[in-house]
Amino acid sequence: MAQKYCCKACDYVYNPQKGDVEGGVAPGVAFKDLPEDWFCPKCGVGKEYFEPVGAAEEE
Ligand SMILES: [Zn+2]
Repeated sequence: MAQKYCCKACDYVYNPQKGDVEGGVAPGVAFKDLPEDWFCPKCGVGKEYFEPVGAAEEE
């Protein structure tokens, strides 16, 4: 159910089940619900550089 997103710049994978604790995102937050100013914790690019991992599930 939880759609993972991969950073095209550095291959960091955002896993909604884990969130981004260091970035202040609690586990369970879907990628689309991340704040617009969230950025990749590894390389610092914005959400627009992320793409869904594997088959896209429902939006
Ligand atoms: Zn990145």
